[in-house]
Amino acid sequence: MTAQILDGKAIAADVREQVRIQVEQRVRSGQRPPGLVVILVGENPASQVYVRNKQAACEKVGFHSELKRLPASTRQEELLALIDELNAREDVDGILVQLPLPEQIDENLVTERISPTKDVDGFHPYNIGRLALRMPLLRPCTPKGVMTMLDRTGMDLAGRDAIVIGQSNIVGRPMFLELLAARCTPTVCHSRTRDLPDKVRRADIVVAAVGVPKFVQGDWIKPGAVVIDVGINRLEDGSLCGDVDYEAVKEVAAWITPVPGGVGPMTVATLLENTLQAAELHARN
Ligand code: NAD
Repeated sequence: MTAQILDGKAIAADVREQVRIQVEQRVRSGQRPPGLVVILVGENPASQVYVRNKQAACEKVGFHSELKRLPASTRQEELLALIDELNAREDVDGILVQLPLPEQIDENLVTERISPTKDVDGFHPYNIGRLALRMPLLRPCTPKGVMTMLDRTGMDLAGRDAIVIGQSNIVGRPMFLELLAARCTPTVCHSRTRDLPDKVRRADIVVAAVGVPKFVQGDWIKPGAVVIDVGINRLEDGSLCGDVDYEAVKEVAAWITPVPGGVGPMTVATLLENTLQAAELHARN
């Protein structure tokens, strides 16, 4: 069996087009366009690329977007004061603080300072709590994007065994909550998990978010499984590779996501969806 490819680029383009149409309708009906402010602290090269991509995506769908660049020496109080200012601005629907932050700043404090209805990354404990309680509001972008991709397989998720490899706050844990809310039977594995390959072999859905190139092997995969590769790893030759041994796994799985062109574009498209959703929440209040 050769797996079908879950084309993140194409699915993300559909999502972005849907957002663009809804923004056009909003503006035509006299409402303002959704507004996103991205805060970048310091000069991390990867962060600069991510921020540039997010801004370009915002412009293409007709959002108002702003970039606030702060020096790496920014004090925590200064960043929190900027967030307070943006929380109070009526034309700002989403506030995104690009991670990682310099070490003098506590990421948790920053995340909690953003108003939950402007938390378009979905990282605030309020939004994670709502997802855990099956009353989702703004959902973390990468796991939500994965759910959009799973939906495109046409597979009935209820009752499926799912494995998430990785337990980070931004991917693994909310991914577990998403799969549980979709009525899968999810298991989260991490660096201390025993007999990982055996656990993966039982899964109908495998989500890899480890950060280790080609970590998931072909002989770990149950024939016909759906394999979602969240990993983005840069190899020494400069090329990108995921957490899954793509060439081996595609011979066994029913569906697989490529890297690049898989989950990555979905994360940005989902950020746009979340910002539009936040704008709609604000319009109701
Ligand atoms: P992280 O470093 O915070 O977490 C990695 C997780 O992998 C940890 O929970 C750890 O326990 C687990 N792990 C490490 N070694 C393991 C092992 N040997 N066996 C089992 N589990 C092991 O990483 P993260 O922020 O969740 O990111 C994971 C990967 O996803 C990275 O490659 C990152 O670049 C990528 N990522 C991609 C997107 C996207 O939009 N596609 C978004 C976020 C992260």
